[in-house]
Amino acid sequence: MIEFAVKLAEQRKSPEEREAVLAEPGFGQVFTEHMITIEWDTERGWHDAQLRPYGPLSLDPATKVFHYAQELFEGMKAYRQPDGSIVSFRPEANAARFNVSCRRMAMPELPEETFLEALRLLVDADRDWVPTREGHSLYLRPFIIATETGMGVNYPSQKYLFCVIASPSGAYFSGAIKPVSVWLSTEYTRAAPGGTGFAKCGGNYAAAFVAQQEAVAQGCDQVVWLDAAEHRWVEEMGGMNLFFVYGSGADARIITPPATGTILPGITRDSILRLAPDLGIKVSEEPISVEQWRDDVASGALTEVFACGTAAVITPVGQVKGADGQFTISEEGGQTTLRLREELVGIQYGNRPDPYQWITTL
Ligand code: PMP
Repeated sequence: MIEFAVKLAEQRKSPEEREAVLAEPGFGQVFTEHMITIEWDTERGWHDAQLRPYGPLSLDPATKVFHYAQELFEGMKAYRQPDGSIVSFRPEANAARFNVSCRRMAMPELPEETFLEALRLLVDADRDWVPTREGHSLYLRPFIIATETGMGVNYPSQKYLFCVIASPSGAYFSGAIKPVSVWLSTEYTRAAPGGTGFAKCGGNYAAAFVAQQEAVAQGCDQVVWLDAAEHRWVEEMGGMNLFFVYGSGADARIITPPATGTILPGITRDSILRLAPDLGIKVSEEPISVEQWRDDVASGALTEVFACGTAAVITPVGQVKGADGQFTISEEGGQTTLRLREELVGIQYGNRPDPYQWITTL
C-alpha cells in the first residue's frame, strides 16, 4: 500500500478554543487541523500521499475541475463510542461507492485500503475533534478533483488530487426530531437514465440548488425529485433517500424506490433494507408515484414517510406540497420511523449490538 508522509500542524487550537467550537459545531462550517492529500497522474498512478496541516490548495485558473466539474465526493461520519474509542459506519461501502462514481466520471479508482487508511490517519491526527455530545459526530469528506491544467474538453484530466477533510458536526436538522416539509419538483429534473444520478458528483448538487431554492420559496425545507420522463415517480430528496411506511406495529411494511441508476444508492438506505426485516418490518424496493403517495395517505394505508442519509440519519417527512396542492402525513415522527432511527443510531454510537459488523474502529 502507498506510504503516507506525515507533517503535523505546528499550531494547534487550545482545548478551550476547541471546546468552544464543539459546543455548537453546526454542519460543515468548521474544519479540523489536518487533511489528507494524494496525487495521481498517468505516469505514476497514485503517489505523494500526505497527512498535512489543513490549508488552502493553490490551483491554476485553467485547472480542469473549474471548467468541466470533473470531481466527486463522499460523505461519512466518525462516531465517539461510550468507551471513548472512535468508529465509522460501513466505510468500505463509501470506498466502493467512491470508485463506482470514479468510473462514471472517467477518473482513476482509489484502492479501498488507501481510502480507509486515509480516514484512519486523519481521524487519528484529529481525535480530539470527534465530538462526545449525543448526536454529534465528525463528518468526513473525501473528494477527488481533476487537476490537469488546460481546457481540452475531449478527454478526461490526466492528473487528479484526492483529498479528505473533516468537520465536527451537530444535528443536521437542528432541535428535536421534527418532520421536514417537502416540495415536489415538477419544473426541474435531477437525473435521467444514462446520466450521473447514481454517482456522487458535484454537478448533481450544482444543478439542484435552483430546485432547493424553489422549495424554500414555497415554504418547504427540502426538494423531492421525481423521474425525468413523467415527473410522476418519486426518486429521492436533495441529500437523502425516501422510505414509505404502510401499516403499523407488527404489520408495518416499508418501501423505497429502486436504485436503478437515477438515484444515489444511499448507505443508510441499504442499511435500513437489511436492518428492518430483523425488526419484523417487511421491506421492498418498488416504484411509488405521487398519486399513490397522496391517495394512500388519504386512505390511511400509508402511515409514515421518512428520509434517510448519513447527515440527517432518519428524519420524518410531514407536509408535502406540489404544483397541484398539498397534504400532510403526520405532525410527528411515527413509530416505525422512530424505531428504525433508534436502532441505527444505537449501532452507530455503540449503544446497541452490531450483528452486521457495520462498525469499524478508526
Ligand atoms: N441521496 C443523495 C442525493 C445524497 O447526497 C445522499 C447523501 N450521501 C443520500 C441520498 C444518502 O446517502 P447515504 O445514506 O450514503 O448518506
